[in-house]
Amino acid sequence: MESTRQSGPRPGADLAGLARRVVVIGILVGAPVIAGTWIADQDTDRWVRWGYPPLGAVLLVFGWILVFRSQWSKQVAITILVLLEVAWIAVAWGRLSQAADAPGAWASLMPTPLLGVVVCLIVGFLFQRTRTALVHGAVYSVAITTVLAIGLARLDGGAEYQWLAVRYCVYLGVFLVLLLVLSRAKEHVTSAVADAARADATASRMRDMAYLDELTGIANRRRLLEELGHQAGLVGPTHRVSIVYFDLDHFKQVNDSFGHDLGDRVLRVVAQVAAGTVREGDLLARLGGEEFAIVLPATDRQAAVQLAERLRHAVPRELTDAVGLRVTASFGVTELTPDEAATSVLRRVDELMYRAKAAGRDRVQSTESSGAA
Ligand code: GH3
Ligand code: MG
Ligand code: MG
Repeated sequence: MESTRQSGPRPGADLAGLARRVVVIGILVGAPVIAGTWIADQDTDRWVRWGYPPLGAVLLVFGWILVFRSQWSKQVAITILVLLEVAWIAVAWGRLSQAADAPGAWASLMPTPLLGVVVCLIVGFLFQRTRTALVHGAVYSVAITTVLAIGLARLDGGAEYQWLAVRYCVYLGVFLVLLLVLSRAKEHVTSAVADAARADATASRMRDMAYLDELTGIANRRRLLEELGHQAGLVGPTHRVSIVYFDLDHFKQVNDSFGHDLGDRVLRVVAQVAAGTVREGDLLARLGGEEFAIVLPATDRQAAVQLAERLRHAVPRELTDAVGLRVTASFGVTELTPDEAATSVLRRVDELMYRAKAAGRDRVQSTESSGAA
């Protein structure tokens, strides 16, 4: 049976997911670099020797959290980021304190510690709101530059390198502005995508409202007429299309004896039974009241009569099980003729159904059959 698409906006659509993927890829690329640097430099650089194993471990745990515990990713990302930033400042200060002179100190910061600051700024923009990330990045850039300036000032030849530190701070500032622009663009794209998803969901809801029968959830009369018009245009010797139309027998008595609510339940069960009987691509609709129709593409009248007979037996049987009432139905079956108007097919099949009623109800009447049940 034809089903209506149920789509809705995925809130946030999914910014955090994008940030997670970017950082996971960063960790996958960064982990071998950390391992390689540790193997190459551990004998000459004790910061690398003792610092990189815990750094690698933290990043791997972080990666695991991003992939397998993504609900914590934002909080964990920001906590790890701040811890890494503090550690990075401590390492920079340690390197500067142990260097013999300013050129040696500056060289010991190249390239990894200074590049690490850039990575921290990027991660901040991935997981924080743009304005927060900007303030965070600016504070961190000034903090690291201050530490560099103070550390270098204490060393021989430090004044010259202090200017390098200030230049580095300016570069960080420019980089932050670039990130700001990218981040704003990303936010605009995200909100445009969310707007589009909302509009899509609204359109889908309106389509449902226009084409679905509220009580049973199957297609309504408007949808049926549209489908009949469409199928009439396709009908030909190689594409036969049939319609089965049925009306419950003495349904008014069900309402009068057991109440309207039970009557509604009967209608819902009938819709379910019919939906379970039709094939993918058939269209089941409620025309109103206790009248239903099924459009059957690529089906000739004989096959449609067989389906109607199956349904004629199934409806009272399933209703007896579901609501304890045996309600039968009378059926009309016909084939569409090429380019036939929907109203004309419905009139013909309605007349056939009334012939089934007149012949005693609980039977199938097709264009060429005698109507015996
Ligand atoms: P027949 O065998 O000749 O079809 O008799 P009938 O009683 O089924 O025919 P009739 O058209 O006189 O009655 C249809 C009843 O369907 C009348 C109305 O109360 C009921 N009905 C129409 N729409 C709904 C609905 O949405 N819910 C319920 N519970 N009843 C409905
Ligand atoms: Mg009826
Ligand atoms: Mg009726």
